[in-house]
This record gives sequence, structure tokens and C-alpha cells, in this order.
Amino acid sequence: MSSNLEQDILSRRTFAIISHPDAGKTTMTEKLLYFGGAIRDAGTVKAKKTGKFATSDWMEIEKQRGISVTSSVMQFDYDGRRVNILDTPGHQDFSEDTYRTLMAVDSAVMIVDAAKGIETQTLKLFKVCRMRGIPIFTFINKLDRQGKEPLELMEELEEVLGIQSYAMNWPIGMGKEFLGIYDRYNKRIEQFRTEEEDRFLPIDENGELAVDHEMKKTSYYTQAMEDIKLLNEAGNEFSEERVTRGELTPVFFGSALTNFGVQTFLETYLNFAPTPQPRLTEDEQIIEPLNKEFSGFVFKIQANMNPAHRDRIAFVRIVSGEFERGMSMTLSRTNKSFKVTQSTQFLADDRETVDKAVAGDIIGLYDTGNYQIGDTVVGGKKTFQFERLPQFTPELFMKVTAKNVMKSKHFHKGILQLVQEGAIQYYKTLHTEEVMLGAVGQLQFEVFEHRMKAEYNVDVRMEPMGNKMARWIQNEEDVKESMTGPRSMLVRDRYDNLVFLFENEFAMRWFQDKNENIELYSLL
Ligand code: GDP
Repeated sequence: MSSNLEQDILSRRTFAIISHPDAGKTTMTEKLLYFGGAIRDAGTVKAKKTGKFATSDWMEIEKQRGISVTSSVMQFDYDGRRVNILDTPGHQDFSEDTYRTLMAVDSAVMIVDAAKGIETQTLKLFKVCRMRGIPIFTFINKLDRQGKEPLELMEELEEVLGIQSYAMNWPIGMGKEFLGIYDRYNKRIEQFRTEEEDRFLPIDENGELAVDHEMKKTSYYTQAMEDIKLLNEAGNEFSEERVTRGELTPVFFGSALTNFGVQTFLETYLNFAPTPQPRLTEDEQIIEPLNKEFSGFVFKIQANMNPAHRDRIAFVRIVSGEFERGMSMTLSRTNKSFKVTQSTQFLADDRETVDKAVAGDIIGLYDTGNYQIGDTVVGGKKTFQFERLPQFTPELFMKVTAKNVMKSKHFHKGILQLVQEGAIQYYKTLHTEEVMLGAVGQLQFEVFEHRMKAEYNVDVRMEPMGNKMARWIQNEEDVKESMTGPRSMLVRDRYDNLVFLFENEFAMRWFQDKNENIELYSLL
């Protein structure tokens, strides 16, 4: 491998921002892009979210509800690093999409609202990161407003999330009395609402403010110094190694809206954020980013992002080597090779053609229906399959049919494509092969219905089946069809695996009592 390529790969930092809706993910993303020079004026991303940018018809739902349904990729250069930010939908009904996006990053930034602390959605996403050992960096936001005590927030992080934390900086005051942050890492104090030239104040070898300054006389300064003393004596030690293993989260305080602490966060974060990490194949080989041969996997498929291009884009995380436009690659699942002439990279508000990309980057491949979520693409002759992306246990189910039987071909094509995209899960009954859809959140059904109409011109009839507990079966050979019943319905998933849909917890226990030999399990 040429040293240039190696350098390129090692300059990549690929991460996702996770948070509970309203904690400030969009605002933070915007500020980061602004510092990276990717957008000229902060406000672009926000405008997109509120719907000023009509990206496509089916995003109507997004507009109407003011929620972000899809996730995209943004890229910028900063201080010799190339930063890839993967946006994730904030609404919990689309958490499946977020979980898959987390498989494509090397670290995650968690935004927490200082007044709210850890909220449900953050907790869920955090668990997925933990499971995968993804390093997590925490930004506690909205310090310009009165929030919880910083020590209380740190305690909550450790208790609710079960991860150790290290405060990289510490707030001096809060809300109306927010004076700035004591930066333990850079050994300086950064003042809030102060002109650029005297924003930073030095601290001396005892950790005290080294210059004469009115801040020193305030009770907020005294309190911050006491807290820091406590952290120094009783807090966790900083360990880069433990950060990398996802065992310790560095914590930053700031205010994204007022652009305070964001640049310091970015610079410090980039010093510790991991370079592109290896990935495992299904047969447990490790594929290193610096491997010569190109390889990657599809973690997301998005349709019709722009009405000007009625197409699908398969988002590929490059795991190893280098992508060049015009190169040949093989889709491992089908063993078919093809030349890639159309590829895109993503910017805040448009996409552009990409000629070259390396391990760590995300590229979009133009797709006419060849790719599925989880597909592996390789550049070399030897094909292999990356570990399957996690599938999630849906909780809501619907029976679905085409209103007009003449449209059955379009109906099946639409379902197939939307299922391959990962928009919804597919199930069918054993003999009658009736189609059922499974989802984690109700909005997924709405998007499905809307898109079937808008993109495939099919009106569908959706018949709610309500909540079910879906359980897969370890020993399928022991399952008998007589075990199926109204409260324990036996179906097949899209991979033809058998699945029981139980009416409720009680029905499941009753079934287990009667059929002790059947080993049930749930997915994530
Ligand atoms: P998201 O849903 O996580 O993407 O959150 P947004 O970035 O859209 O922010 C939600 C709301 O919080 C918006 O009204 C923001 O203006 C506001 N907000 C974001 N960051 C801050 C902050 O640092 N301070 C204050 N006071 N408000 C903020």
C-alpha cells in the first residue's frame, strides 16, 4: 500500500451523533459543519429539517411531522483530518435505521440536554454502542440555560448508562450566570460571551486562574474549583485506551446554540476519536482498513432522495482499501461483478460525484435494485461476507394487501424493495403466504403506505394485528405445525426462518410451559 493511501485512511474520523430528540443534535451538526467549512452559514441543516428543502415526495411525512426520518452523511476536513458525520433519525420509530447506522461508524457523540439528563432514546442508542464497543464521547448541551448540577449529571451518566466518565472540562456557573468552562484537558479557561482575543485565560500549576480577573471573585468560580478538586481526587483517571474500548466516556460541557465549547470539543475529540476500525466477516476473519483490496458493506439504502434523480442510493461504509470510480467490484451475495461508474458522496445540502474514497469513508452507489441491507462488496477476486447487520425484533404487525388485485405485481415489487431497504420487515403466513409487515414504530407503516402509493402507484389495505412478541427458534427441526394457533402464530421471516408471533407475554409463557423443548430467542 502506498504511504499516501495509508495516510489518507488514517486521517479519517467517522462518527454518528446520537441524542434524544431536541437535545441539540441538529444544532451541533450545523456548528461542526460550519467549523469544517462545509456550510457557509449555520442554518442550512436546520432549514432542511423544517422542510424548506423539499428533497422528495415521500419526505412529506417528515415535513408534516417536522421529524427527521432519514439519515445522511456529511463530510468536511479539519486540521488534517477528514471527518465523516453520519446523521441519524431522531424519532424513535426509526430507531432501526439508527442502529444500522451505528454499525458504520467508529465512534459516537452523545448529546445530552443539561436540564433533562439521560432520556430514553439516548439510553437505547447508548446500549447499542456499548454492545459493539463503540467509543462514546459526551457533550452536555444548553449550558446557557439553567440545568441540573454538573456533578449530578456525571453521576447520572455513570448510574443510568453504566459507563465511567471523565470530565474534559467543567462549567463555571450556568444559565444566566454561565461564565465559561474550565478546560482540564487544554489547561485553560474559556470564557462565555467574550470576544475572540481574550476568550482564553491561562491557569497556573496549581490549577488556579493565573491572571487577575473578576471571575475569580465569584462564587461560581469557587464552586467550580471545588468540584474540580473533587474530580481530581475522587474521579476516574483519563485513559485513552479505555476510551477506545468504550469503557470511559470523555465529557464536555457547552452550548451548541451559542456556539460555545463546540470548537474546543471538536479539536479535543479529533485527538482521541478512533481511526477507521477493522470489521469482522461472517467466518470471523478480521478485515483491516489498511488491507490493499477494497471492501465495504451496505448499511443503508435510500430511495428517491431527490426528485431529479428517481433512483436508490446504497450507502456503503468502506472497510478496507480504496474506491475509485470506474473500478470493478463483486457483490458477494450473488458473486456478480460490475463496474461502478456512478457513485456519490454527500455534503450538507447536495451530493457530488466521488472519484476516490478510502477506508472509513461512506460512498453512495447508484442502485437499480441490486443491493440489500447488509450486502458486502469487494474489489479483489476473493469474496467474503461481513457480519450480518443486527435485525430488530419488531413489536407491531400489520396484514397488508393491494386494494386492486390487478396491481399485485407492483405491490410485490414495492414490498420487496422497501424490505431490502430496511424500511420495514417482511413476514408471511405458512401456507397461504399472506403478507405481514413488522415494525418497531408506527410511523414506519405510514411511510410504507405513503411510499407504496407515491413510488409504486399501489393503494394498500393495512389491517392492524396489534402488538406481538416475535420469537425466533433455535431448534426449528423440533417445531410442529400443530403448535401454531391464534395466540402463537407461526410465520416465516424474509430469510425463511420460522418465527412465532405471540399475542402477549402470557401466551408466550403458556406456550413455553407446554413445549419446553422449543428454544425461543428474540433479536435486538
Ligand atoms: P435535535 O432534535 O436533537 O436535532 O435538536 P435541535 O438541534 O433541533 O434543537 C432543539 C431545540 O433546542 C432548538 O430549539 C434549538 O434551538 C435548541 N437548542 C439547541 N442547542 C441549544 C443550546 O445550546 N442552548 C439553548 N438554549 N437551546 C439550544
